[in-house]
Amino acid sequence: MRHPALLSLLVLLVVAQGVALAYWALRQRRFRSLQHVDGTPAQHLQCADTHAGRLALVGEIAGSIVHEISQPLSAILINADAADSLLSQPHPPLEEIRRMLADIRRDDLRANDIVRHLHSLLKRRELQTTMLDLNEVAATALSLIQPVARKRLVTIRSSLDGSLPPIHGDSIHLEQVLLNLMMNAMDAMASNTANGAAERILDVATFRYDKYSAALTVADTGPGIAAAYRPKIFESFFSTKQEGMGLGLAIARTIVHAHGGKIWQEGTSAGGAVFKFTIPLQTV
Ligand code: ADP
Repeated sequence: MRHPALLSLLVLLVVAQGVALAYWALRQRRFRSLQHVDGTPAQHLQCADTHAGRLALVGEIAGSIVHEISQPLSAILINADAADSLLSQPHPPLEEIRRMLADIRRDDLRANDIVRHLHSLLKRRELQTTMLDLNEVAATALSLIQPVARKRLVTIRSSLDGSLPPIHGDSIHLEQVLLNLMMNAMDAMASNTANGAAERILDVATFRYDKYSAALTVADTGPGIAAAYRPKIFESFFSTKQEGMGLGLAIARTIVHAHGGKIWQEGTSAGGAVFKFTIPLQTV
């Protein structure tokens, strides 16, 4: 590996995923033994669960993101080598070298931005609410998920309401909710092979829900959710996936409720699933 930064990021992500999976396995065993003894379901997900959920989420999208980061890092190396050899000329073309340095700076900022976001997702922290633009939260989550969508042949469409007033929330926690919903939507569309890539459409929209809150929806063109499963999907450890942990939606609900919002699921006219959540506006 030529880039030490990329190598340390990879190590960090692999460790993060390992820790999250081990933690989840332990929780799952504890939950099952609790159920066995007195039938008590794990009602409240703690901050630690939310964090473990985020670690696993980052682990899941890491593969595609590492690829995304290696591009600017390679470009930096190529530009630095080229500038270096130009400088050894008797009359170095300073304008060209300046342009190369500007490219290096731009690529470095790009890679840094991605790493910074992953890092904030990996950090363990309590809910810290501030005045936020829900559209910015959506834009960040969309840029993080884009490499995964490309890999899975999913087309992402977004419609963000620019006139949305600020909300009162925690951007990292809300990004986590949105990433979970988008990963689920992409999982659901994985079987849409017969119709090809055009049929795997993920729609993300923000809008003013009512006087007091803003809303965000994630709609997919997957098979939707069977009526028998609908009452259970937000429960901890409910999963219909072979490798599923069944915590993504439970964590999403915990986060949305901690914000004073609501989250629910509806169907689409085409048979897919729509997840909606509301977050109170800052003025409320
Ligand atoms: P996991 O993804 O580990 O299964 P989640 O709590 O995120 O856990 O989801 C619980 C279940 O809800 C999934 O196993 C799946 O059956 C269902 N589900 C969630 N999102 C969708 C969706 N967009 N389309 C169809 N089913 C979904």
